[in-house]
Amino acid sequence: MRLFDTMTREVRELAPRDGKTFRFYCCGPTVYGPAHIGNFRTFVLQDVFRRSLELSGQATFHVRNLTDVDDKTIRDSQASGRTLKEFTDHWRDRFHHDCDQLNLLRPHLEPSAVEHIPHQIAMIAELIEKGHAYASADGSVYYRVASFEGYGRLSRLDQRELKEGASGAVADDEYDKDSVSDFALWKARRDEDGDNWWDSPWGQGRPGWHLECSAMCREYLGDSFDLHSGGVDLVFPHHENEIAQSEACTGHVMADHWFHLTHLLVDGGKMSKSLGNFYTLDQLAKAGFSPAELRYVLISAHYRQPLNFVAKDADGNETFPALLGARQALQRLAKFDAALAARSGDPDIPPYEALLTVKEGGSFQSAFESLQNDLNTPEALGRVFTAIKAVKVDALSPDEAASERMGLHRVLAALGLLLPATAGEETAEAPAEIAALAEARRAAKAAKDWPEADRLRNEISALGWEVKDTKEGYELCPKN
Ligand code: AMP
Ligand code: ZN
Repeated sequence: MRLFDTMTREVRELAPRDGKTFRFYCCGPTVYGPAHIGNFRTFVLQDVFRRSLELSGQATFHVRNLTDVDDKTIRDSQASGRTLKEFTDHWRDRFHHDCDQLNLLRPHLEPSAVEHIPHQIAMIAELIEKGHAYASADGSVYYRVASFEGYGRLSRLDQRELKEGASGAVADDEYDKDSVSDFALWKARRDEDGDNWWDSPWGQGRPGWHLECSAMCREYLGDSFDLHSGGVDLVFPHHENEIAQSEACTGHVMADHWFHLTHLLVDGGKMSKSLGNFYTLDQLAKAGFSPAELRYVLISAHYRQPLNFVAKDADGNETFPALLGARQALQRLAKFDAALAARSGDPDIPPYEALLTVKEGGSFQSAFESLQNDLNTPEALGRVFTAIKAVKVDALSPDEAASERMGLHRVLAALGLLLPATAGEETAEAPAEIAALAEARRAAKAAKDWPEADRLRNEISALGWEVKDTKEGYELCPKN
């Protein structure tokens, strides 16, 4: 697989360092509110990336953290009157629920920043020892940016600007793109942080956000790993600072590849609460749209291009034309799949594990290959529809239909698209709430989270429905 690398500004071949497993880290959500559809553009495309690797035969190890201690989580938990843990646990659970709805594979590991404070303290001590950090009079510790020669390589900061700017120090986790400053590794305890402080050799306080990812990457992926990813806003300062921290400690290249995802725009502008264009999965569900329809929209543009989510029509009414278009596209796919299924004589959808062994995708091979070439999701979708037009289902033998169907489902699995039930199937009769629970259970099973799958089965049962597993999928029937 080939992918654009922000560090070299080139599309480069991906290869695991150890020759076996591709090990990568994605900066996870800050759990202080519901993730919005922009955040999910990033998480969904990272998921398509992982699926495309796995379906091309490459084993993966995916680590995605939870940012559950930082300026924002502390500020908003204080305002809500809940403890940091109660507050972030709530938003973590909501995030997981949304991820399941969107058919995201669960990361193999999901470390929490607040559970790794000793690792962060150890890293600060090492940075001070090596001359890359210093304690200030108030008991905070700052990274000395001028001490790290490679600072600015990822974001291509002008070296002159760097030297001039490097005199100041900032305490906030997030700061301006133009202000290159010494940044906080450890923040001395302040009254407004309430009970959220920990003991350290420099006094009571809490870690800075940038350090958290460096410490968790090192713990679970070692000094060097295959790829690091996040939204494009993380290039500077977050990832630049991660490199400075990690490489100054270890003396090794942190990540071989940097994968950044361009932002989602809404109706041509930035998403913000004040503009009233801030959408969550929940809001779209209330407007009658399925998670699969949102996922389809999110993958409809290349990850290096901004994607404009069209929510309003020309008259300014919130009609979600983009999601309506996705609905039609998914229905066309489902109809074609149903025709292939009928021709092959096997209604069951091939499971992910069976698709991992497909080597040749027939009419859908070139669509799959688009994903191998810099994760070109719009080209892949285009090629799927071209193939659908070209394949004459009635002319296929049952074996040919079965084999074309494997090819189709391999590319759909890489895109993570679940097809809607076609009319007449039993699942179509279940209320949306039950269908959503059944979908979440399917995702939990796919992620081998058996306790969660059992819990969802019980929840469905308590609501008067029974979920019956078929060879691949499931059927929903009202309980007698
Ligand atoms: P956060 O929860 O703010 O830490 O962000 C989680 C992920 O979403 C990060 O990788 C961000 O870079 C990414 N992100 C934030 N806003 C957007 C957006 N509008 N479009 C795409 N990705 C975004
Ligand atoms: Zn990070």
